[in-house]
Amino acid sequence: MQFAEFAARATEIEDEPGDLATVDYVCDLLGDADTELPVVVRFLQGRVFPAWDATTLDVGPAILHEAIARAAGQNVDADDVEAKLADVGEIGAVAATYEFGGQRGLGAFAGGGRDDLTVAEVDDQLRDVAATTGAGSERRRLDTLFGLFNRASQSEAKFLARLVLGEMRIGVGEGSVRDAIAGAFLGVDAERDGEATETDAAVGECDGDAADETDEVAAGADEIDEVAAGAVAAVERALQVSNDYGMVARVARDSGREGLDEIALDVGRPVQAMLAQAGTATDALEEWDAAVVETKYDGARVQVHYDGARTALFSRNMDDVTDPLPEVVEFVESAVDVPVVLDGEVVAVAEDGTPLPFQEVLRRFRRKYDVEQMREEVRVELRAFDCLHVDGDDLLDAPLADRHDRLAELLGDTEAVSDVVVTDDPEKIASVEAAALEAGHEGIMLKDPASTYAPGKRGRNWLKRKPDVETLDLVVTGAEWGEGRRANLLGTFLLSARATGDGSTDEYVTLGKVATGITDDELATLTERLTPHVDHEDGQTVSIEPAVVFEVGYEEIQRSPTYSSGYALRFPRFVGVREDKSPDDADSLGRVDRLAGEQ
Ligand code: AMP
Repeated sequence: MQFAEFAARATEIEDEPGDLATVDYVCDLLGDADTELPVVVRFLQGRVFPAWDATTLDVGPAILHEAIARAAGQNVDADDVEAKLADVGEIGAVAATYEFGGQRGLGAFAGGGRDDLTVAEVDDQLRDVAATTGAGSERRRLDTLFGLFNRASQSEAKFLARLVLGEMRIGVGEGSVRDAIAGAFLGVDAERDGEATETDAAVGECDGDAADETDEVAAGADEIDEVAAGAVAAVERALQVSNDYGMVARVARDSGREGLDEIALDVGRPVQAMLAQAGTATDALEEWDAAVVETKYDGARVQVHYDGARTALFSRNMDDVTDPLPEVVEFVESAVDVPVVLDGEVVAVAEDGTPLPFQEVLRRFRRKYDVEQMREEVRVELRAFDCLHVDGDDLLDAPLADRHDRLAELLGDTEAVSDVVVTDDPEKIASVEAAALEAGHEGIMLKDPASTYAPGKRGRNWLKRKPDVETLDLVVTGAEWGEGRRANLLGTFLLSARATGDGSTDEYVTLGKVATGITDDELATLTERLTPHVDHEDGQTVSIEPAVVFEVGYEEIQRSPTYSSGYALRFPRFVGVREDKSPDDADSLGRVDRLAGEQ
């Protein structure tokens, strides 16, 4: 395919505001791309290399501007390009303002043949740019780029410049490419057992709105929808597993659904990391039967690939970070003897094993030099929390609970796997969280035990527990005697805020009860502190004169008729005693009002 043709089609797509029509255009383009299909797919996304490949062109704006200026002729220099850029704001639009190449006029006159760029040639040359390293490489990269721009028309130059910087800006997202691949190459005929109707072609013929046209057909729109959704899901899965849009498009075209279904995870090639949304224990338990509760480590994400001989480590952005982390490599190779892909976090730890802040990990993470010396200074360890492949079994589609089992089989008796708690009890979640925070971790993650691993997705199946917004300092005005082993200890403390903020009364309004986050030792101390202030007992329940102030964390402040403040704390958690505060210094209802309003 001529690069001019690609540029013309990209311009059409850029000018098209509608998503469905965009998919149609992309679909047509993929259908026409022929042998250059993988390249066209990548170019549409502003890529020269597939997403799994960390190779970059390594061309900064300065070289690009210089190449454009040189190709634009003697009267233009990089400063002119930059001045225009400041004005126009986008390098593609700037490149499109120049007439390039002394030779071009002649070529065009002769029928446009001699000098025309093809998509494959642009790809080759940009790959050359990426491969040019060492002494004098900047000059040679500049020369190659100059050569390309010198042969480009204005519209080609626009997309060439964007491609060099890795941003196509034509409104083609990953979803559009996925739908277009399904539309272009996965006709529904094979799916519907030869029940051929005009609608069969609906998906295959790049109709972005296939279902609309099927209304009058006996088979019904639902069935078509389902088949089309199945085709899209097959493409999606192949993309998630391989991270290679070009290859997936080629396989879809050449081998259809069957070929796509055979695309497997490749040990040694990174998969996009599954991501988390912020959420609460309430969200988790509303949505799932039970929640997996894991420690949220404060480190850097790492994906471990061991192919039986060699270990490769990849960052969250799929950069290769193997060399800077030799002890993680050593650990993996000592612990595992079959090919695996693990997902986890690299953490920095102190001599005694306690976690160190994330900044310490960063000192190690991308280090190219002095790795051995830094190894002495900052100790790092792996904390694996997921398992995507073991010895030929891809586990992306297996439930998290099974993936955890596989992980435990592999690394069970090492520090590298955290304890996993599965529970439907919010109190238990709160206590795991309190313990994680106590041990110096960032918090907890809540995950759906039934969920599959969705690469690159920030879905609702992984929740990072939202940190408490702000803690409250509240007065203890009541408590309950414990039961069994704790019968002699006060627990479940009633918490109150001052009714007014100006000290005009010494009234208190109740806000909730806290029982979570307190150790037995702390309960004993608190019982000793509070017993002298007990002014009334009614069975297990005691009321207590204002004397002691607790700092309390919570998930949310809710309106509630249960307490005299009109509010209740959701999942209150004991943080500590504010020894420095008297009840007069405790928070007032006014502050509670304000915090509730800010939520
Ligand atoms: P955030 O970076 O705040 O969006 O939180 C998500 C990140 O937490 C992930 O990308 C991981 O790097 C990190 N993390 C730490 N512990 C876990 C865990 N147990 N499960 C998943 N992600 C974790």
